[in-house]
Amino acid sequence: MPIIRVAVPVPMRQLFDYQHTGCELEPGVRVRVPFGRRSLIAVVMENTQTSEWAIDKIKFIEEVIDQEPIFNASLLKLCSWLSQYYKHPIGDVLHSAMPVTLRKGGASEAKPIPYWSVTDLGQQRDLKSIKRAVKQQQLLDRLQQADVEQSQIRGEFGPAVVKALLEKSLIVATEKQPTIDRDWLQHLCMGEKPLPNVEQALAISSIEQKHGQYACFLLEGVTGSGKTEVYLQAIEPVLKQGKQVLILVPEIGLTPQTVQRFKLRFGLKVGVLHSNLSDNERLLVWQQSRSGQLAIVIGTRSAIFTPMLKPGLLIVDEEHDGSYKQQDGLRYHARDLAVMRAREEQIPLVLGTATPALETLNNALNGKYQHLILQQRAGNALHTKQHVFDIKNQPLQYGLAKGMIERIRLHLQEGSQVMLFINRRGYAPALVCHTCGFVEQCQRCNKPYTLHKHLYKLQCHHCGSAKSIPRQCKECSGQELVAMGVGTEQLEQGLGELFPDYLSVRIDSDSARGKNRLNEMLEKINQNHYQLLVGTQILSKGHHFPNVTLVLILEVDGALFSADYRAAEHLAQLVTQLAGRAGRAEKPGEMWLQTHDPGHPLLQDLINNGYGHFARYALLERQQANLPPHSFQALFKAQALDARQAHQFLQDVAQLYQHTPDIACIGPLPALMEKRQGQYRMQLILQSGNRGALQQALSQHISAIEALPLGKKVRWSLDVDPQDFM
Ligand code: ADP
Ligand code: ZN
Repeated sequence: MPIIRVAVPVPMRQLFDYQHTGCELEPGVRVRVPFGRRSLIAVVMENTQTSEWAIDKIKFIEEVIDQEPIFNASLLKLCSWLSQYYKHPIGDVLHSAMPVTLRKGGASEAKPIPYWSVTDLGQQRDLKSIKRAVKQQQLLDRLQQADVEQSQIRGEFGPAVVKALLEKSLIVATEKQPTIDRDWLQHLCMGEKPLPNVEQALAISSIEQKHGQYACFLLEGVTGSGKTEVYLQAIEPVLKQGKQVLILVPEIGLTPQTVQRFKLRFGLKVGVLHSNLSDNERLLVWQQSRSGQLAIVIGTRSAIFTPMLKPGLLIVDEEHDGSYKQQDGLRYHARDLAVMRAREEQIPLVLGTATPALETLNNALNGKYQHLILQQRAGNALHTKQHVFDIKNQPLQYGLAKGMIERIRLHLQEGSQVMLFINRRGYAPALVCHTCGFVEQCQRCNKPYTLHKHLYKLQCHHCGSAKSIPRQCKECSGQELVAMGVGTEQLEQGLGELFPDYLSVRIDSDSARGKNRLNEMLEKINQNHYQLLVGTQILSKGHHFPNVTLVLILEVDGALFSADYRAAEHLAQLVTQLAGRAGRAEKPGEMWLQTHDPGHPLLQDLINNGYGHFARYALLERQQANLPPHSFQALFKAQALDARQAHQFLQDVAQLYQHTPDIACIGPLPALMEKRQGQYRMQLILQSGNRGALQQALSQHISAIEALPLGKKVRWSLDVDPQDFM
């Protein structure tokens, strides 16, 4: 009798052995197993003959759920790699990699589809005999010719008509297994396409040359340089071979327009995966991709786990985007996973962006990735000219210098739109007592509350807690409480006062909440309904604003002087992305950055020499400072009500690595955000010049770390290749 070794979704690293009375089970099949007093959904990893447990101690599998594996060999390998690399329990990795309904034990096969059919009586019934009920007659007529899906009938006829025929026993509910239609290749039709320019043609043919093998490309080109067109033309020969394409896009860059562009070009259905889908909608795309019915799947981060029957090409658009890194639980990076997946599936991968992450650029410069560059902006649009604006000693109105207000006026008068970027939502980042200077703070995070006038609230942006706006100062009972600093809400209101003849719109996570709000706002912007666009990060992601000719960043100094070594890289990406969203051929754009340090070398490099130059210089700086990508990091975080416990736990971790060669321990130190939700937060960075050494060091002690007695008293986590040190 075989012993089945399975991965169980529990926070333990080992596999577990079960007996099974039948034959061996294929790896990747789900089974239900008894675990403690629970019954859990596990995934078969291997079959063996021997176990370290006595045979009478090994429990039996309760149920085999799948006929066929839900993870094929390459996805299983990918998940195993992920588990090892990020030091995350394999059972939990596999659970995260499957659609929610499958985690609960739901069927992996498509559900039967409900139909209406005629009974024998209904088939023989003369239509004329129900002449007085026209609708019933029409429905019976339809069903006499063929069975029809219930969902379709519901829309066309309504429940009363159906009920009437049911009561006369003329029709009956039936079910049909959905047919698997892999014939999209026959429907493939090519929409019109432009002739690629020289750089595009080179990129397209380079990618095509690598069909059927692993290769990774960095496709670097400013917005509007025709990257999407390269994707489309690189996809074409893949589809013609009957192979599938998986495209990853950032969280909020996935708009109906993007999907439409792929649909229109190939005349095919496109599977879409994003966080707003129901569990069943997700499952359906998963099923259709797995069975080869979908030629193209577009999705956000977790779509990287979508199975494909015949994978042909992987694309990660805006590869630098932060949303590809999961920041809690299983802290994986979907771009890095895409590289592993392409390798496993032996297919090419294209990483596209105007502003490559320094990690990616480094891999392109050292030859690991093939570097494809698009320098021309398609349609000959001019590059947006960038300038700094010195705000030292300048009075600011709603965060705007006088010179900038005049510039805004000029552009508006010319009939253009103006975009203003500010990194803070809400009305103001703090509320201060004008008499004594007291600032109202969140007690749980030790940070000022943000004032939200719309909501009549003070809200902490770190823990979400909120309270009503006080009428007087807690310290001195002073009545004059003033808003300090500027947020999106205040800027929007201020623009209304400064430019009463123009309409403004605010785009931040407060205003863009809800399924279609963002798309509606974007559409109205493109119809020129609004002339002033105020927003946060969202503005920089994936949307074109051709009528915007002035982009203003209210403040860049925070990023220039941040303690986070990635802050400058992120600022440069933001500036370049925002600049790329604006202007077009007839109306070149300009961009202004307000700063107290106009001579800052990073700023000067960026605006004079562009992102590419900046990034190469930043890479040199990272090298000199021995920071990623020239070294590798793992971040241990710990938090507790008592700061000393968090500190001691990390001290104990550091102790384990004291004599490990090639590993440097930095910390324990307080996190950039020292307190949050009442918990004190500490961190410890392990760093090495050698990825293998770091990996080995982590593996060597992870069990010992899990066994540390303080580990039960503090909340701790491990983040391999951390992106965020907050
Ligand atoms: P990106 O993805 O880099 O922002 P797109 O592929 O969306 O760029 O191209 C920008 C615009 O230029 C689109 O309207 C696209 O149809 C057009 N375009 C791209 N390549 C060409 C080309 N070779 N000839 C003419 N128009 C092109
Ligand atoms: Zn708080």
